[in-house]
Amino acid sequence: MPKGPCRTLQIAESRVARIERCNHGTIHVHLGALSLRLSPEQLEELAEALSSASQALAPASETVPATRWVC
Ligand SMILES: [Zn+2]
Repeated sequence: MPKGPCRTLQIAESRVARIERCNHGTIHVHLGALSLRLSPEQLEELAEALSSASQALAPASETVPATRWVC
């Protein structure tokens, strides 16, 4: 594993989050003032949990624009 400071490459972005992978193999998830550092395995588990939560809140037949939920 390389030493020294992180050099990141953005791998995904949305209106609420930005996700980067660094030269150490860590996934950096930036969500507002919150930043998470995850392993690729943890990212996959988190993605599955978020997907399950999203499906539980919004059945496919009742899809609404995301902006409706912004305070
Ligand atoms: Zn790093």
